[in-house]
Amino acid sequence: MRVLIIEDDPAIAANLYDFLEARGHSVDAAADGVTGLHLAVTHPFDSILLDLGLPGMDGATLCRKLREEAHVDTPVLMLTARDTLDDKLRGFEHGADDYVVKPFALKEVEARLLALHKRYTGKVTSRALEVGELTLDPRTLAIRFAGASVKLPPKCIRLLEMLMREPGRVFSRKQLESEVWGDVQETSDTLRSHMHILRRALTQAGGYDPIETVHGLGYRLLSRDQDY
Ligand code: CA
Repeated sequence: MRVLIIEDDPAIAANLYDFLEARGHSVDAAADGVTGLHLAVTHPFDSILLDLGLPGMDGATLCRKLREEAHVDTPVLMLTARDTLDDKLRGFEHGADDYVVKPFALKEVEARLLALHKRYTGKVTSRALEVGELTLDPRTLAIRFAGASVKLPPKCIRLLEMLMREPGRVFSRKQLESEVWGDVQETSDTLRSHMHILRRALTQAGGYDPIETVHGLGYRLLSRDQDY
């Protein structure tokens, strides 16, 4: 997991940092609220450990800005100094997902972070995807394009899902191949033929092809109401 620690107490921050890094996580740290918020908004983290009392900007304000202004929904585990109901409620009110009370056991912090991450990814992957006139429900694998139902083989669905998770982003052939076929070395014809089936099916259903070949780079998904 990529974890961001926002904590101004150097001893606590170092403890958390060393423990989580030794457990194989990739860790970043900030010692004040402003730096912490900046990192949380500009880098993709899987979870954030956030101290409530911070210099510059307190944890509750940071959390609220993260959710309401930056629209970042990375799970936040709040570290609170006192076990008072007010502190907890304040944290939840501002968008924290869980909290631990200081002093805490490092193992418990990691367990809570993993639980939050699991809950979050489960929520994200089961959410129906929608890009322009195209929708895909990852639970039922039902696909609709411009009102018409689209039937696709499983690997084509997986390709489409990847493109739909980040519309506008250019995926290289290598990225798509390793994500859909795993480590198995397939010839580039495999990807090309699946891409062909996918694009033909979408064109037949919706009357146009929403996938663009970016010459020499790969593929990306466009939608008519978005301009990239
Ligand atoms: Ca503090």
